[in-house]
Amino acid sequence: MIPFNKPYLTGKEPHYIEQSVMSGKISGNGDFTKKCQHYFEDTYNIKKALLTTSCTDALEMCAMLIDCKGYEVIVPSYTFVSTALAFVRQGAKIVFADSKSDQPNIDPEQIEALITKNTKAIVVVHYAGVAVDMDKIMALAKTYNLFVIEDAAQAIDSYYKEKPLGSIGHLSAFSFHETKNIISGEGGLLGINDKQFIDRAEILWEKGTNRSSFFRGEINKYGWVDTGSSFLPSEVIAAFLWAQIENIKPIQAKRIKIWDNYYNQLNILEQKNKITLPKIPDFATNNAHMFYIICKTENQRSELIKFLKEKEVYAVFHYLSLHKSEYYKSLDYYKATDLPNSDKFTSQLLRLPFYFELEEQQQQLIIDLILEFFNE
Ligand SMILES: *Cc1c(COP(=O)(O)O)cnc(C)c1O
Repeated sequence: MIPFNKPYLTGKEPHYIEQSVMSGKISGNGDFTKKCQHYFEDTYNIKKALLTTSCTDALEMCAMLIDCKGYEVIVPSYTFVSTALAFVRQGAKIVFADSKSDQPNIDPEQIEALITKNTKAIVVVHYAGVAVDMDKIMALAKTYNLFVIEDAAQAIDSYYKEKPLGSIGHLSAFSFHETKNIISGEGGLLGINDKQFIDRAEILWEKGTNRSSFFRGEINKYGWVDTGSSFLPSEVIAAFLWAQIENIKPIQAKRIKIWDNYYNQLNILEQKNKITLPKIPDFATNNAHMFYIICKTENQRSELIKFLKEKEVYAVFHYLSLHKSEYYKSLDYYKATDLPNSDKFTSQLLRLPFYFELEEQQQQLIIDLILEFFNE
């Protein structure tokens, strides 16, 4: 059986977890947390990084920091629920935008028409770790005085014109869920690039208290100064994550090798116009977060999933257009909108098994089965 995903352990996780437990400091914001945060600040040029318990939590902190209550926030429809949910929970009105026709990323050309005097922010998702055209997004934000939030959940170690993803928008959010490139089971990180948010982010992170400045010795007592929650993970999670971060180079090299192999061998199907393969624009890099193909029809996709499943190969599809979701329809401001590209990816995109330990012969079997399905 070839599963769709398999979390990869570097082997160092139990060692660092033991170290964190034995240190006597297992709550949050300890040495491992700081090591992980500094790594993101130094390597990915993020002004201030804060570990969170999930990317969803990091996005919720973004929603709190920009004070979006009562404002409109533009979000792609083709994304994971959290991208929209975090802002809904903080009282924003979601305005859904369509994907590009040839790529699941938000279409920058369609955003301007959605901006009103009530718009507060644009949230972009770098789908499959491939950059959105950020110059266009940042230019719109400047013209209309909006915040830009990068949902970089899938985008670790990926770049836009040499700039690391997550370092471009005012704020960004990463995920270390077990399905991502670098994992801690559940886990995330808030990236802050606009300095005005740093002090308040630390307060929201620590249950509305100014405990972080207290621990740095900047004040002599700490208290309740703002809203917030317990967004910081324990040191045990950070210790796990550190083992992964230390191995990011080999992890990325292997994933890119697997990605290239899928791409090169399935290319024949694209050339014969049987499926479409992922597009990486010139301004973007590929961090090999996932490999997907775009089928010609929904029916063809169902047949292919069935064909692979009979041979015990598990391919899955994901993201149902959020603008057609049950929850969005229940909101009092719901308005039916037509977002055909988002709907196309909803019905035609298929993700192939993709994980660090996918063996060469297993991958060859998957590729051969797909070629067989298309009579190649
Ligand atoms: C995985 C993912 C999330 C959610 O991440 P969690 O860490 O599970 O909260 C959000 N947005 C996108 C685009 C994702 O892929």
